[in-house]
Amino acid sequence: MTGPILVHDPLTLAIAALVGAAVGSFLNVCVMRWPVRMSVFAPPSRCVQCERRIRWFENLPLLGYLLVRGRCTGCGVALSLQYPVVEAVAALVWAGMTARWGLEWEALRGSLFLTILLGVAIADARTYTIPDQFSLGGAAIGIALAPLAGGPEARDAVLGAALGLGLLWVVAELGRLALGRDAMGGGDVKMMAMAGAFLGPWGVVVTLFAGSLLGALIYGPVSLRSGRPVPFGIFLALGAAIAYNWGAALAAWYGGLLGM
Ligand SMILES: [Zn+2]
Repeated sequence: MTGPILVHDPLTLAIAALVGAAVGSFLNVCVMRWPVRMSVFAPPSRCVQCERRIRWFENLPLLGYLLVRGRCTGCGVALSLQYPVVEAVAALVWAGMTARWGLEWEALRGSLFLTILLGVAIADARTYTIPDQFSLGGAAIGIALAPLAGGPEARDAVLGAALGLGLLWVVAELGRLALGRDAMGGGDVKMMAMAGAFLGPWGVVVTLFAGSLLGALIYGPVSLRSGRPVPFGIFLALGAAIAYNWGAALAAWYGGLLGM
């Protein structure tokens, strides 16, 4: 007989972190290749500088980066810090969700959602685009997992996706009318369908509110000075992560303010 599985059991959390680091490693490949329409399975990874093929142990999440001390062993070019940072964040996410939900479907659903949001944010920061694999593929995953997990019911997942798509489409059209150019990419619109599928309709509202606020506070001044467009997907992803983790508390607080 084995004992009950403890949520804060260090071994369980370590395994969850390892799974997360491996997922983060794959996420790095997706983020680099999907925007340029490359397969994530072939060809094998190569150094961007000298094209030397990456050996298997260099591909180990986190450890590989440490083993080669952050440099290509062929030409010595510095490897992007993005690789270990994404792997570490994903490890924290998967361990954190396991600690919070235990070995339940919700831990998997939450981990996948936050991992997709991480991918959205990095892809948008690097390329100003959000690959359909994250947005449309993520929406399909969100709707598929809804009946299994402790998130929104299947009906609310579909409603959330529709609301996210519809609301952002209206915002994008209004922005185009007001500015005379595209204020928001189609990627942001599809990305909100994904967020809605995981969060349900109320989560869409919290995401938009938090995302717009963060975007205006953080990026507004930068964008005004530099004249560069706002990679709004980053802030929508942050807003969605806030909505997932604290959406219920925020809605209760706001309802209290309104006397509801
Ligand atoms: Zn190299």
